[in-house]
Amino acid sequence: MNPKESLDGELNAAFLYRVVAEREPEPRRKRLFEELARDAEAQAELWRGGGAGLADPASPFHPSFRARLVALMVRIFGPRRMTHALTAMKVRGMSVYRSAGYRGAITTAGASALPSEHDEVGEHHQEGLSAGSLRAAVFGINDGLISNVGLILGVAGAGTGNATILLAGVAGLLAGAFSMAAGEYISVRSQREMYEHQINLERAELAEYPEEEADELAQIYEAHGMDRAQARATAGQIINDPKRALDELTRTELGLNPGDLGSPWVAAGVSFFAFAVGATIPLAPFLFIAGDRALNVAIAASAIGLFSAGAATSLFTGRSAVRAGLRMLAIGGAAGALTYGIGGLLGVNL
Ligand SMILES: [Zn+2]
Repeated sequence: MNPKESLDGELNAAFLYRVVAEREPEPRRKRLFEELARDAEAQAELWRGGGAGLADPASPFHPSFRARLVALMVRIFGPRRMTHALTAMKVRGMSVYRSAGYRGAITTAGASALPSEHDEVGEHHQEGLSAGSLRAAVFGINDGLISNVGLILGVAGAGTGNATILLAGVAGLLAGAFSMAAGEYISVRSQREMYEHQINLERAELAEYPEEEADELAQIYEAHGMDRAQARATAGQIINDPKRALDELTRTELGLNPGDLGSPWVAAGVSFFAFAVGATIPLAPFLFIAGDRALNVAIAASAIGLFSAGAATSLFTGRSAVRAGLRMLAIGGAAGALTYGIGGLLGVNL
């Protein structure tokens, strides 16, 4: 990275720290982000002094378009929902929003945790790989089921034969499964690249500015509830231990458990397979059963599948399994009835 980029990076980060601090009601966190803003500005001064031909110190700094966009979203949604976008803009201290899953030095040092804010259920990349994959699988099965129930009933509603229904169902299964897999691959891969890039930045900073990194760590520990003296001692110890330092910076500054960087191929494979399983349920009867009976069996199998897959989602929400099952059945049933009706209308006119 050239000095001009580094300078702009620090200034944009400082701007975002101030926005986060402004939006943050919790006093310890607010103070942390104010301190980190001042540190980033001090770091920017270093870059400014070191690089000849850099921006004139007197000229005012304008945050980049991207920084202003992230700032706007932080103001609307709050910093906790924007942790990935903030980390990507070199904003540190995100572990304060991950108290529940945080496994940094602070937990072993026995400081009082911040007001607990559990990880959002939707952020499956932050969970352990197996938990994230299982969750993705259950929701993938649901997607496949609803999507192919709608497709198959729509085609059946038009009054076509079983061969056409089978063809449409297979095409729907493949198109949906590839689409899900591609989406998941890109999502996990881009997140992974972002974190790898940020971890590399931390590695470089650790080598060049170990004292500043120790400082940053200590400030975050304090925001987690450690007293100042202990925070400084713990941070100093960790920075002096090269084996632990980068791992701890990743956990504390980026709010990431290094083992949680999932494989994009695994994520894509799980999504593909899960969608295909769900999409097979309404489709399979047409493979084995002839005549009108195939549609009736498909509807019955789909109803059982929708209820079961819906009930399984309650594993991740902690809500009633029966209610979750009935809700999914209602949603899938409505989608199927609607496409069947629309298929019927189109079938008459074709
Ligand atoms: Zn750092």
